[in-house]
Amino acid sequence: MIDLNNPELKFAVDAVRQAASLAARVQAEMVSPALTKNDRSPVSVADYVVQALIAQQLETAFPDTQLVGEEDAGVLRAAETATLERVAGFVATAIPAATTAQVADWIDLGTRQPSSRYWTLDPIDGTKGFLRREQYAVALALIEEGQVQLAALGCPNLAAAHEMQAGGPGSLVIAARDQGAWFQPLQGKGAWQSLQVSPQSDRTRARLLRSAEAAHTDLNAMDEIAQHLGVGAEPVRMDSQAKYAVLAAGEGELLFRLISPKMPDYKEKIWDQAAGSLIVEEAGGKITDLDGKPLNFKHGRTLAENRGVLASNGHLHKAALEAIRAVEA
Ligand code: AMP
Ligand code: MG
Repeated sequence: MIDLNNPELKFAVDAVRQAASLAARVQAEMVSPALTKNDRSPVSVADYVVQALIAQQLETAFPDTQLVGEEDAGVLRAAETATLERVAGFVATAIPAATTAQVADWIDLGTRQPSSRYWTLDPIDGTKGFLRREQYAVALALIEEGQVQLAALGCPNLAAAHEMQAGGPGSLVIAARDQGAWFQPLQGKGAWQSLQVSPQSDRTRARLLRSAEAAHTDLNAMDEIAQHLGVGAEPVRMDSQAKYAVLAAGEGELLFRLISPKMPDYKEKIWDQAAGSLIVEEAGGKITDLDGKPLNFKHGRTLAENRGVLASNGHLHKAALEAIRAVEA
């Protein structure tokens, strides 16, 4: 069993649960069919709300800890005040009396540089999924000496840690090093259940997972890898680290983050991988980069020493690495 009395895990569970629920509320109130295609304001508001909330709570609970978040309040401070007021309005539902100035300062609490021990936060991972009312996640992790120790992933549109269900009940997926991966409905009703990767070792039956965004992957290489493995089915497309929850829940076997030919030098951001990687490992899976190297969280805000990501149920990892090598050769 996972030690839910550990103060840091308890913090992560409560903070991500509350923040993800608030993100779902922002989505319900601001993402409407009338939203024009290029209007990203709902996701910006949700991003700022979540980072303000979690940063403020972390500062209160553990004043010595450092938070490396994806956002900062620079643009928000420069924009018309209506956006900041909107953000502060949502934050005030959780922290009454929050002022706009405080909210901007709380967001900037998350602008620290990674050190030997830090938390990292992706306030809304899968911004496109958020806008499409599909998958997105609030992702928080604690890293010590380059190793992820704790993870919490709040997925408001993912039921039972694997099933698309817009509007809830959502899942809260957590992991602690050597204590397994677990999930509970996002609202906290019901027992924690252990997550285990799929036992599938037949490569031809592997279910592949990939980004919904074509620009975040390499579609040709993806096809060739599937062919090399002998997989007939199309890869499942899904936004955000929700994919890692699906893999941990045993509902997929291989997850590829291939390098987009449009951005050959792209380096993964730590907050995009930290929580999901521990969840996969603690569910019995394996995660490396596309060359089989362990993910290294010791190089600042990116996985500078890694190239892409391969996550698997473990059984099919070697076969997938071979397929990648063959296709790239
Ligand atoms: P996904 O939903 O799996 O595509 O992951 C979303 C994350 O991909 C975002 O948080 C971005 O930080 C990240 N991202 C942005 N551009 C790229 C890219 N060219 N390749 C891989 N990931 C990217
Ligand atoms: Mg992200």
